[in-house]
Amino acid sequence: MVAGEHDSGALTVDQFRQQIRQALRAVAGDAAGLEADLLLREVLQRSRVQLITRGANQLEATQFAQLTTLLKRRQSGEPLAYILGHREFWSLDLLVTPATLIPRPETELLVEIALARVGSEHAQVADLGTGSGAIAIALASERPGWQLLATDQSTAALAVAQQNSQRLQVSNVEFLQGSWFEPLGGRQFDLIISNPPYIADDDPCLEVLLGPAADAHPVEPISALTGGSDGLDDCRQLISAAQNYLKPGGLLLLEHGHDQQPRLQQLLEAAGWNQIECFQDLAGLDRAVLAVAGQ
Ligand code: GLN
Repeated sequence: MVAGEHDSGALTVDQFRQQIRQALRAVAGDAAGLEADLLLREVLQRSRVQLITRGANQLEATQFAQLTTLLKRRQSGEPLAYILGHREFWSLDLLVTPATLIPRPETELLVEIALARVGSEHAQVADLGTGSGAIAIALASERPGWQLLATDQSTAALAVAQQNSQRLQVSNVEFLQGSWFEPLGGRQFDLIISNPPYIADDDPCLEVLLGPAADAHPVEPISALTGGSDGLDDCRQLISAAQNYLKPGGLLLLEHGHDQQPRLQQLLEAAGWNQIECFQDLAGLDRAVLAVAGQ
């Protein structure tokens, strides 16, 4: 790779953009172009359009140095969202830190389903294990009349979520610390929504997610990723007790792994849930399940 070997004065934005793309291919694959642009936009403080229209501008030495440092961090396997400190979700710019899972585009599916299926303008909704606050804040910003409760067992994650709601001036989310149902007391909701950890402890995909040198750079919190030997420990807890915290006819909406739908269906049926529906993400993979509380 060329970064660091060049004199910045010799490079235009366009030229360095190409070099960053090449350099990121090994670690970012098909996302190399997108990631290169996000790094450039961060350092140059440009919009996507300005990046293109001002591509012939020369890079300043400080910009070149900054970009080279960020590029090296990314090449070592550190997730881009932690390097930048933020990630877009549902068109909202969310702060993220290594205390929080990085919001995924497929999780926007849960927001879509919740908005489509909860008719009330004054619904009470709980987002359990909120992480950066992505789901709760997206719903709260779309439905100012809803009351959202966002919980997380991690105080560090909850602090990030609270900061996000303040920055985005969302006032209808309450934050409480605790694991799953612990913080809910005697409350009852119209919808309980969660993107729980659901990867099996020994799933080889963890190596890809955490990177080859996981101890050398910040990684996503393992507690937000893995859910026991089949990945479903947390889903089992949610499915077995959520009906105690739902109003009659209330909804449970869970994100899950692409191969977990049949097992979740069984668990939901065995626990007395009704009208179980499954949903696919944009890649066509089973990704979410919705169920109505039994009588
Ligand atoms: N969606 C994550 C992934 O597979 C898994 C953890 C989670 O979101 N609950 O990358």
